[in-house]
Amino acid sequence: MSRSLRYLILFLTAVLLISAVPLCASAEDNGDYKLLALTFDDGPGNYTEKLLDAFKERDVKSTFFVVGKSAAKYPELLERMSDEGHQLGNHSYSHAYLTSLSAERITEELEKCSRYLQAAAGEEEAFYIRPTYGAYNSKLKAVADAPLITWSVDPKDWEHRNTDTIVKNIMRTVQDGDIILMHDIHKFSVDAAIIVVDKLIEQGYEFVTVSELLRRRGVTPESGSVYTSARNTGVNLGPPIDPEAYDETLIENHPAYEAICYTRHTGLFSGSSGDAFYPNKYLSRGMFVTVLGRFAGAAVQTTDNYTEYDDVKPEMYYAPYVKWAAESHIASEPDDGRFRPDDPITHGQFSAWLTQYLNLLSPGLSEQQKTDLFPGMNTEENSALYSELGLITGVSGDLGDPKTL
Ligand code: ZN
Repeated sequence: MSRSLRYLILFLTAVLLISAVPLCASAEDNGDYKLLALTFDDGPGNYTEKLLDAFKERDVKSTFFVVGKSAAKYPELLERMSDEGHQLGNHSYSHAYLTSLSAERITEELEKCSRYLQAAAGEEEAFYIRPTYGAYNSKLKAVADAPLITWSVDPKDWEHRNTDTIVKNIMRTVQDGDIILMHDIHKFSVDAAIIVVDKLIEQGYEFVTVSELLRRRGVTPESGSVYTSARNTGVNLGPPIDPEAYDETLIENHPAYEAICYTRHTGLFSGSSGDAFYPNKYLSRGMFVTVLGRFAGAAVQTTDNYTEYDDVKPEMYYAPYVKWAAESHIASEPDDGRFRPDDPITHGQFSAWLTQYLNLLSPGLSEQQKTDLFPGMNTEENSALYSELGLITGVSGDLGDPKTL
């Protein structure tokens, strides 16, 4: 293989890494966060509104695993949950004992509940599942189209029916990373939840949704897998960065300033829109294929930009590049007819797409040569090599840890 090809690849990788610098080198990563996820099953009910009011006042986010039958009665409460940043989850339609049902019936129970969640959330997503009675088996796991969430703290609110006892039960065992089980259909539970929230906020805890808890602990949830808690095992990310938060008048002080100028002036990556670059914004999948396509000098069509993906509108800036990437088999997953252009790109996708790009660039190389040339971007060796060549500046910490760039 030619030396120039090797450098071209290194250069390509470096451009992409440099453009990712402000996105991964957050000073807040692996910080001192204490996180908890409150979860409420079986609702909504008569006391849910009181709970939502209290949470709004305290900026607390939680997860509601609703029962479809009840959801049907309170559509406006579900909408409010979604609007106020709470997570909606699936607790079946009729609270059936899912593990005793056939696969077909399980699917029916979950899908029927999902429809109410969908209507409230507005957009299509796979809603996390709280198995009824906390019971799951291989059949349920196989049928589930989302992660199964159980819990690590159960104050048995429904059994004790007493606010003080419930508060004590939680406070006695609660620890960082816990998922707490409660029921918002009881007044004593709702009252206890509000007391517990106040006590734990005072102890420095932050209340987040289950999906946010997993994200901040570096866990990528998988359909059919069971999650009971998310302890701090070394990854402890900060809250999502508000893309508007960066003061662009100070951009010359940004550690990636020179690289930002380079990518803008060459037209490889101009940031988000207008004059602002949004250096702290996560790179979306749509942006990434666009940058890659421009770098590759892809001859893209400007007229016929219809793709096989339902969620890629032909008038969007990334549409021709999504089309190019799909047709060149660089980014042809996932397989459900959606490209998810606005989702952040994960390290896994980033590596896979670059590798596919390399394949496209050098079809004559053997697998071994490709491995030698591009062994993956998460190895320390690679990072060290890029740093040595001066291709990466301003990168701190391990590139491999955070799940998104
Ligand atoms: Zn239940």
